[in-house]
Amino acid sequence: PTTAIPTTTLPSGRPVPVLGQGTWYMGEDGRDHAREVDALKLGLDLGMTLIDTAEMYADGGAEEVVADAMAGRRDEVFLVSKVLPQNASRRGTIAACERSLKRLRTDRIDLYLLHWRGSPDFAETVDAFEALMRDGKIGQWGVSNLDLADMEELVDVTGGAGVQANQLLYNLTRRGIEYDLKPWLRERGIPIMAYSPIEQGRMLRHAELRRVAERHDATPAQVALAWLLRQHGVIPIPKASSAQHVRENRAALDLTLTAEDLADLDRAFPPPRGPRPLEML
Ligand code: NDP
Repeated sequence: PTTAIPTTTLPSGRPVPVLGQGTWYMGEDGRDHAREVDALKLGLDLGMTLIDTAEMYADGGAEEVVADAMAGRRDEVFLVSKVLPQNASRRGTIAACERSLKRLRTDRIDLYLLHWRGSPDFAETVDAFEALMRDGKIGQWGVSNLDLADMEELVDVTGGAGVQANQLLYNLTRRGIEYDLKPWLRERGIPIMAYSPIEQGRMLRHAELRRVAERHDATPAQVALAWLLRQHGVIPIPKASSAQHVRENRAALDLTLTAEDLADLDRAFPPPRGPRPLEML
C-alpha cells in the first residue's frame, strides 16, 4: 500500500517525490543486508520511492542492496545512480552504466548523475549520457557536487542544458549554497537533491534543534528534514537502515515549522552573507 508523497518536477516535466532514500554505507557488510533491504522496502511502502545510490557505494554493493529492495516492484521506483569521475569519459560512462544496470538487475536508471567533477570534459560525459538516453538505459541525467562556476560551464556545452538536478551537501549546518548556487538553480527550475540532510547524525544533539523539536513533540532529525522539505525544489535523501528511522523520516512531511521556529533556526544556523566555496563530503 503506497502512501503518496508530494512531488516536485524535474526540468523534463517528470514528477519525483520530494523525499527520497539514500544508500551510502549500505552493502558494506553482508550481515546487514536483510535489514537494509527491509528498510528500503518499508520506505517504498511509505511512498519514498526515489532511491539514491552510486557505483561508488560499497564498490557496487549498495546497488545490489537496491536491486533486492526493488525486486518485483521496479516500476514504483525512481532510481538514481552515479558514475565516478574517473569513469566519466565517453566510453567509460557507458561501460560504468552497464555495470550498474547489471548490479541493479534492471534495464534502466531513471536519473544518472556525474558524482563530482573530474578530468574528463563535461562535453564527453554529456555526450555519453545522451547516448545512454537514446538507448533507453537512462531516463535523464544530472550532476552532483558542482559549484556555480561548474554549472555555468556545464550548461554552455552542447546538450549541457539537459541537466535535471544537482545533488549537493545541504542541511542546516551547511547553508553556503543559499548565497548564489541555490538561487541560480531555482531560477532554472533545476532541483537540488539534498544529501546528508541530517549531517550523518552529527547535528542531532544541537540544542536549538532539540528545542524546536520539543515544541512539536518531534525529533531533531524530523526538524532538520522539515526545514529542507519546506523549500521549493529541494529533495532531501536521508539514509536510514532501521525501520524506526524510516518511519520517523517519512513523518517529517507532517511537521510544519512556524515562523518562530524558522527565526530560531536562522539564529542558530545563520545563512551565508557572502559567497562560500562549495562543501562536500
Ligand atoms: P544522512 O544525513 O542521511 O545520515 C545518515 C545517518 O543518519 C545514518 O547513520 C542513519 O542511521 C542516521 N539516521 C537516519 N535517520 C535518522 C533518524 N530519523 N534519527 C536519527 N538518525 C537517523 O547522511 P548520508 O551521508 O547517508 O546522506 C544521505 C544520502 O545522500 C546518502 O546515503 C547518499 O545516497 C547521498 N550522498 C551523496 C553524496 C554525493 O556526493 N553525491 C555524498 C553523501 C551522501 P541508520 O542507517 O542506522 O538508520
